Amino acid sequence: MIEQCIKKRTLSKDHSSLKLSFPPLSLNNSDKNLSNNLKLINNQTSSKTLSNKQKFNLKQFENEVSKLNFCPIGSNANISGNYDNYLSTTLTHIVKMRNIKFDYALESPLIYENLPEKELENLSLSNKKILVLDLDETLIHADFNEEFKNNENIKYDAKLSFYSDEYTSNTVKDDDNESMITDDDSKDYSNEKILNTVGIFLRPGVKQFLEEVSKYFEVGIFTASVPEYADAAINYLDPDKKYIKFRLYRNNCINVGNLLRVKNLKIFKNIPLKKIILVDNNMYSFTPQLNNGILINSFFNDKNDNELSNVLSYLINYIIPSDDVRKINEEFFGFQKIVDDMIINVL
Ligand SMILES: [Mg+2]
Repeated sequence: MIEQCIKKRTLSKDHSSLKLSFPPLSLNNSDKNLSNNLKLINNQTSSKTLSNKQKFNLKQFENEVSKLNFCPIGSNANISGNYDNYLSTTLTHIVKMRNIKFDYALESPLIYENLPEKELENLSLSNKKILVLDLDETLIHADFNEEFKNNENIKYDAKLSFYSDEYTSNTVKDDDNESMITDDDSKDYSNEKILNTVGIFLRPGVKQFLEEVSKYFEVGIFTASVPEYADAAINYLDPDKKYIKFRLYRNNCINVGNLLRVKNLKIFKNIPLKKIILVDNNMYSFTPQLNNGILINSFFNDKNDNELSNVLSYLINYIIPSDDVRKINEEFFGFQKIVDDMIINVL
């Protein structure tokens, strides 16, 4: 789809014609979730030492989040042929989040737990741009819902084993000859946790993609998944730790009132945003910095998918030579411009 977007360039040139096929939806029971989540934030941060200014900023963030009234759509709607619908709907939601100060959410100490400080410091010393990759439905698809488990015509590319607090609904028996990968990372999750197994599909060309982009970028993963599973997946994709230099997980994302999770690239502290690119299949991920994002179609198990090849081509031909990745993305995709124009129309 990125190829189509680049060819057409319609979204940056003619966004006024975007048809909003999904009218904005109102919340049903999410108000309860919002309030529960705010309590959670308060409880979790109360034990930390926060300045009055930090507390005030977090409260401001929470207040704006509590006003949201839409139901996010899942990124499984971001499939080939539905790009415009998916984009227009998610952008109308992103307009609704325009008053949220996502930087204020970075005041929460929880965001920085598990942050690989040393790796991020090394990044700030590099001359290369930073390529931040989402994991699920961007590089692989893990069949947590067991949709393909009993399909004789479809074989998983691998199975991942990982420890977690509880059984996922997707425990898969190792009853055939597919490769079984056990997370051998140095972190020890095993003492109080339960072994889970999940079948995965690799996006076509993913290993070559990682090998190639790591020549030009400092590459890392920023996933909304939990470390237990994500580490198993990343260790499978990069067993020799040659390509992926840093890993950020669910708790490093900003939780927007249990509605969705977004990725604030300012978590990379000393690295200028003009050097950072995020490739993700979930439009909401980009909300704090729309022009840093490259939206890729969601991958499930399509063996003919060639999106990574399209992304690679865009990265090498346009992003690498650029002084500011945001300007190039704005020219091609125009996400921020679309949102700005929508805001003008809303007001
Ligand atoms: Mg994803």
